Amino acid sequence: MGELAGVAIGMTVVTRFAPSPTGRLHAGNVYTAVLNWLFARSRGGRFLLRLDDTDRARSTEAFAQGIRDDLAWLGLAPDVEVRQSDRFDRYDAALARLEAAGRVYRCYESAEELELKRKVQLSRGLPPVYDRAALALTESDRVRLEADGHRPHWRFRLDTGAAVAWDDLIRGPCHVDPASLSDPVVRRADGGYLYMLPSVVDDIELGVTHVLRGEDHVTNSGVQLQMFEALGAPPPALGHFGLLTSAEGELSKRLGASGVDALRDSGIEPLAVVALMAHLGTSEPASPTASLTELAAGFDLAKHGRAHPRFDPAELAHLNARLVHGLPFAAVADRLPAGMTEAAWLALRPNLSTVAEAANWWPVIIGPVSAETDPADRDYLAAARAALADLPFGPDVWSGLVERLKAETGRKGKPLFLPLRRALTGRDHGPEMAALLPLIGRDAALERLSA
Ligand code: GLU
Repeated sequence: MGELAGVAIGMTVVTRFAPSPTGRLHAGNVYTAVLNWLFARSRGGRFLLRLDDTDRARSTEAFAQGIRDDLAWLGLAPDVEVRQSDRFDRYDAALARLEAAGRVYRCYESAEELELKRKVQLSRGLPPVYDRAALALTESDRVRLEADGHRPHWRFRLDTGAAVAWDDLIRGPCHVDPASLSDPVVRRADGGYLYMLPSVVDDIELGVTHVLRGEDHVTNSGVQLQMFEALGAPPPALGHFGLLTSAEGELSKRLGASGVDALRDSGIEPLAVVALMAHLGTSEPASPTASLTELAAGFDLAKHGRAHPRFDPAELAHLNARLVHGLPFAAVADRLPAGMTEAAWLALRPNLSTVAEAANWWPVIIGPVSAETDPADRDYLAAARAALADLPFGPDVWSGLVERLKAETGRKGKPLFLPLRRALTGRDHGPEMAALLPLIGRDAALERLSA
């Protein structure tokens, strides 16, 4: 059987998006969701939502619902949702197995003792790595400590013999030296699980084949690869992409203002968000796309590099406008002002940055409009009215009107067009008059020219 990106051909690709429900989604984690969704869909695979809610104090149902709503709005609804808080028995079982195998051990140091150890190491110029003192405890030491009211926390014993290496889907050959790391705490004295082990247990049991996440997890990957091995499971393929930066260059974790809810409220189309994110980190510019299916078909992880892509809200707004210019009536009809026709939408959309702006232009078509006419244009507008009254009012009425007025008055350019636009729409700029005039209609146009 052949190998493709670390996975045997024929195996169903499974990716997951694993946010903690401790806040709304921001640009950084939307990027993670988009890459995982597109990768899964481009391979005919499955995309899971895993709510990392082991931190019971900070996780809320409202944030979990916010994440679901944001994904649904983006069109990235998961095939399956799991919550870590439903799976503590699975983590207990894995912990027990690892403890029996000597890969997890109980520790009793208080936070103050650990802090003191670190200070001493640092003052001696040593790396502040946990000294594994608890490994020397005997069973009777542990019984005595627990009888004295000390509650254990659990650490995973790293194998420090050799570097952990993997071929990263994005970064290429990677390695992490476990000797430079403290044995990670996997369960706290209050019984709560920390992120590291539950994530591995879930990835194994949910059949995750590809883990795509930010480069802030590279060191975690070194640790977690040892956990997969200790649990006797083949690891997923790993890909770590560069974290998003903002236009000012700070890292994505602080891009709080660009929450999905804020994007939605400002009139950004979900497809624009996904289309932009799909291209961030590649050398290809994002372009308006017809559908998520089309994006998935063109998605290739190999185009993503390790650079830190810049998320620029102005670029998103620009892409959004280009997307809106191509949206068919059927895609927007339920968001348009009551009564707006397909012809009106097609006339207006080239001038819109958001669909909602159609409402600002609708009065230009249905009226009433109020226009300030320059007294110097009165005769010109009277001539326009007479010409229009005389012309057949068909789809080409605007060009007929302009040709007639050019010949009659000798005007051209701005003096020819602007007084007409002002009188007919009440504005100096806007959609093509050739498209607007037939929509305004003969009677309303004649009335506006004589007002
Ligand atoms: N909850 C973790 C995070 O948001 C998940 C990391 C992972 O993808 O494994 O950072």
